[in-house]
Amino acid sequence: MVGIFKSVQNQIRNAVKIGKMNPNFEKHILQPKNKILFSVPVIMNNKVEMFEGYRIQHNNWLGPYKGGLRFHPDVNMDEVSALATWMTMKCALQDIPYGGGKGGLTIKPQDYTEKELELISRAFSKQLCEFIGEDKDIPAPDVGTTSQIMDWMTDEYNNNNKLKREQGVFTGKSIDCGGSEGREEATGRGVAMTVKEWAKQENIDLKGKTFTVQGFGNVGRFAALTLESFGMKMIAVGDSGGYVHHEEGIDINDILNHISTEGSIKGFWGPTCGYAKCESINTDEFYALKADVIIPAALESQITSERAEKIDCQLIVEGANGPTTHEADVILKEKGIRVIPDILANSGGVLVSYYEWLQNKQSMKWEKQDVLDKLDSKMGDCYNKIDELSKKYNCTMREASFVYALQALEKIYNKTK
Ligand code: NAD
Repeated sequence: MVGIFKSVQNQIRNAVKIGKMNPNFEKHILQPKNKILFSVPVIMNNKVEMFEGYRIQHNNWLGPYKGGLRFHPDVNMDEVSALATWMTMKCALQDIPYGGGKGGLTIKPQDYTEKELELISRAFSKQLCEFIGEDKDIPAPDVGTTSQIMDWMTDEYNNNNKLKREQGVFTGKSIDCGGSEGREEATGRGVAMTVKEWAKQENIDLKGKTFTVQGFGNVGRFAALTLESFGMKMIAVGDSGGYVHHEEGIDINDILNHISTEGSIKGFWGPTCGYAKCESINTDEFYALKADVIIPAALESQITSERAEKIDCQLIVEGANGPTTHEADVILKEKGIRVIPDILANSGGVLVSYYEWLQNKQSMKWEKQDVLDKLDSKMGDCYNKIDELSKKYNCTMREASFVYALQALEKIYNKTK
């Protein structure tokens, strides 16, 4: 299996070929503009603990670099470079005036107290200061980071930036600290909106249709809650604590209550959980279940070729970034399974981050319903324009999404570079 960044570069090369784009443009867009590596020392309990921090600024032709910060022990240059490149594509695909960036810290956040996490987040933000800014590079939450972490980081940035207060330097903040209504659910809800649009175009009634979700954090749970509101039934779900399957359907609030007391899905099986037929399964069994829609919403490279061979569904919607390996993608195409790719399916998050940034810059607060209405209609429009493009080029929705994004960037390259 090739590294994840190489795999994104191959996605770009393939789309450049389909869209017959300028080979000089291709050379620019294949590489990040800046790769910044930090050592982040933090004093805790009178001892220095050293963390490794990353910020990759992939491209800023459309606007400031934009992309999340991940707190996870496996964060590395290859992964962050891939995620930054996908951000450039995602923003161009949604016609948002942003480029792409991504960052992270090698840390297992669960191992630290809240006070320690604040110290670590502030130390990282202080080091990021000279490289970011509301018109330069705007980080946001990702795996392992929260609105509370964005609030600390925004405060620390402004403590160190005496020239002017910039509330829009981070997005995904809490509502009290300048966050937007609707941002918390934006990514998951956007995922569900693409399912709704797919069903509308294919004349499918979603009532009673089944779905499974891998990853029940921010993206997975809001996608599931929105699909449930369409009358769909969640028959399996998994997180880092394990997976459960119940063919008659799992009530989402029941499992969320379990997670809030137990920390993960672990233990939500057997007679004590109230679902007598709830069984514990492993990841391979999860991906082999028959369902109408599968939503990977955890980490990269979860749908491997072995799992793709066994997948039995109509639609896969990529809530996570890069959940499907290139080899698996080829198999899914041969099997005729439609994949709504990550850069389209999970773009609701950056869309509402953009709305948060606009509100911060204009000192305004938008009503929640206005934000959600804008999100829903942009997700539907984006699905349709890519569906049409995929028919025009006779290619997959992933290929069409890359062609659309790259053509927007190529226009700037051809006129200005
Ligand atoms: P999160 O930290 O809130 O949740 C991650 C979930 O995945 C948790 O339930 C965790 O237990 C689970 N998980 C971790 N390792 C797992 C494993 N090996 N097997 C099964 N489950 C596992 O993160 P999130 O914000 O929901 O992000 C999930 C994915 O969506 C990531 O790929 C992220 O880059 C992407 N994404 C997030 C946003 C956003 O706004 N949060 C936007 C776009 C894309």
